[in-house]
Amino acid sequence: MPGQRPQIIGSLSPSRAADFVSCPLKYRFRVVDRLPEPPSQAATRGTMVHTVLERLFDLPPAGRTPAAAEELLPGAWADLRAREPELAAMFADEDELAGWLASARELLAGYFALEDPRRLAPAARELYVEHVLDSGLRLRGYVDRLDEARTADGLALRVVDYKTGRSPGPAFENTALFQMRFYALLLWRTRGVVPRELRLYYLGDRTWLRVVPDADDLLATERRVQALWAAIARAHRTGDWRATPSKLCGWCDHQSRCPAFGGTPPPLPEAQLADDTAPAVCEAQG
Ligand code: SF4
Repeated sequence: MPGQRPQIIGSLSPSRAADFVSCPLKYRFRVVDRLPEPPSQAATRGTMVHTVLERLFDLPPAGRTPAAAEELLPGAWADLRAREPELAAMFADEDELAGWLASARELLAGYFALEDPRRLAPAARELYVEHVLDSGLRLRGYVDRLDEARTADGLALRVVDYKTGRSPGPAFENTALFQMRFYALLLWRTRGVVPRELRLYYLGDRTWLRVVPDADDLLATERRVQALWAAIARAHRTGDWRATPSKLCGWCDHQSRCPAFGGTPPPLPEAQLADDTAPAVCEAQG
């Protein structure tokens, strides 16, 4: 019926989509088994730096300086620790913690090497965006920053995402930009405007990737997302979550239960075993 909302068949975020593309078994461990992963220094530093960059824009424009960003760091770390007290156990001693905080300051300095936040007035930070495709697949994600400008051609949107690692080699740039196109697709569907520009800042090596998408680009992204979900649904039906070893295994918390490393995955959860015809509604938030 016209106007009827499709029944939700599942949810997908760019992060979990990337998990499935890199290794279906890793996706299974994270999304289907929901196995816990211990906090890592790198991921926690990433969260903390994102928090600082979000709060930086609460300051008046002239106050958004490197020194001000550094001053926001202890508060962001204290908030993280208050939320997850076990994070403090990641550090053997004060020296290790001090080195880690210094590395976070380096990343913030990397941000200021890439742009001057005093000249910006973001329309949104940590913006949650969600859209349900006609198929019933819910796409969602958090955009680090959205810049808006009124131009003679109408509303111009710029999507900005910060990465606290290093930039990928040329062979992996498109994989990295898939996440940005995913966000652009969400914004197009929810706001009716194709974002003018997508920017991915790599604070680790102070460089950035940029893409100017068009509607064809985003339609291709939508087809790719649908194909990806079809593959995820097939894995749900068949239970064939293939281990796909790569360099990324070095960062995977599940080697001990991965066949590629001599391990055995745990039995699939009951709900999964009971449902052999269709994927369960599964959260795939990144
Ligand atoms: S160790 Fe490698 S192959 Fe195994 S689940 Fe993790 S990413 Fe996949």
